[in-house]
Amino acid sequence: MTTTRSDDVATVTEKYDPTIGLETHVELGTASKMFCGCATEFGAPPNTHTCPVCLGLPGALPVANEQAIESTIRIGLALNCSIASWCRFARKNYFYPDMPKNFQTSQYDEPLCVDGYLDVQVGDRTVRVEIERVHLEEDTGKNTHVGTSGRIHGADYSLVDFNRAGIPLVEIVTRPVTGSGELAPEVARAYVTELRDILRSLGVSDVRMEQGSLRCDVNTSLAPRGSDTLGTRSETKNVNSLRSVERAVRSEMVRQAQVLDAGERVLLETRHFQEQTGDTRPGRSKEEATDYRYFPEPDLVPMAPDPAWVDTLRASLPELPAARRARMRDELGVGAEDMTHLSNAGVVDVVAATVDAGAPIGEARNWWLGYLAQKANEREVAAAELPITPPQVARVIALVADGTLSTALARQAVDGVLETGAGVDAVVAERGLQRVSDTSALEQAADDAIAANPDVAEKVRGGKVAAVGALVGAVMKATRGQADAAAVRDILLAKLGAGA
Ligand code: ZN
Ligand code: MN
Repeated sequence: MTTTRSDDVATVTEKYDPTIGLETHVELGTASKMFCGCATEFGAPPNTHTCPVCLGLPGALPVANEQAIESTIRIGLALNCSIASWCRFARKNYFYPDMPKNFQTSQYDEPLCVDGYLDVQVGDRTVRVEIERVHLEEDTGKNTHVGTSGRIHGADYSLVDFNRAGIPLVEIVTRPVTGSGELAPEVARAYVTELRDILRSLGVSDVRMEQGSLRCDVNTSLAPRGSDTLGTRSETKNVNSLRSVERAVRSEMVRQAQVLDAGERVLLETRHFQEQTGDTRPGRSKEEATDYRYFPEPDLVPMAPDPAWVDTLRASLPELPAARRARMRDELGVGAEDMTHLSNAGVVDVVAATVDAGAPIGEARNWWLGYLAQKANEREVAAAELPITPPQVARVIALVADGTLSTALARQAVDGVLETGAGVDAVVAERGLQRVSDTSALEQAADDAIAANPDVAEKVRGGKVAAVGALVGAVMKATRGQADAAAVRDILLAKLGAGA
């Protein structure tokens, strides 16, 4: 007799029901920190954006950032949450060197937004992920451990940078998601993807997982099939890409199934995701519950958002990704498969915005999935993060449509915008990119090309029409790519008496 080893997700779900839960931290893109006026800009020299408040100096008093509260309420509304009519900040007490106050100002039993949901699509299935809470807190500083290990153990010394300490952070917590079976890893990924796209369309954060402005903790547990109690969960930290979210759930499902198959107990613990291997390693055990000694923050007044203000914020929410996708499908005829391409490339929003700026959908799609994707790749950024706006792309497309630019020239125009930050028309004028449509100039260039390449011209006259390509190339070179290649070809063939 052989026993099935639970070494892949499909075998795991023959015996176990997985449950996942996600806690996501989002750094808000406000200009200043949560409780002081320090700048939030990324990449400044260490400890230059600090003050008595974010350094936790005695007697310094915090003042809440109104913009951050507004952004958090907008996130809550976009996630179908109820907005608390009254809530407070709380102190979460713990010691760590990256946190100068020895407590994090957070929210505990009175969060700003509660009881929402987010519907996510996995293949043709819609899964409703319930949102337990969305609350506002602050980020910590950043430790750098110097030495061969790069970790605190075995480090020669550690450095701390408090520039990040006090940057507004929103924590979004789901309820346990059950019933997705072997799709659990995909559901986790789809949830974070959809959440990221919503946050991006709200404009509240730059949502860069690789820079840590969107960070994810993934909880996974297994229960015997059909059981109605949840199994013990592990919490995987350090998951910083969409792909890793999916891999983390997958590897935890397989690992926990092997533990349970062996008759052992899954430990309640924090684990760390390993980017190289795709599995998780044990971290801190949580078997003894940490006591954070939460208590209401005495230095900050409670928040009581005016319902009229909340209504205004609700009315001013932008078109959210799900509605935008439905509109692209129904009004613009974008098919499911194409939508997946656009989604995977993270360009649904910019393509839609390019269409909104007047471009045909096909052209908008081709630019963002083609040349712009290539440029983004070279710069190692997402296409949507390129320094060119959807209206600028729409303008380039319009200039091609009205014959001002050839495709080659349009690409040069895009290059100019990306390099200089100038507008499309300015780049076209400055670089002299208008296409040469002056026929006499083209005729002259064609005559020159024929005179310079008599052998090629003779072949074409003799019927080898394909050879004309070399002459077209010569004319295009002479006109610095500004001629219309098809028109040049027609002119050359007419001159050589070899009709197309
Ligand atoms: Zn400060
Ligand atoms: Mn938190």
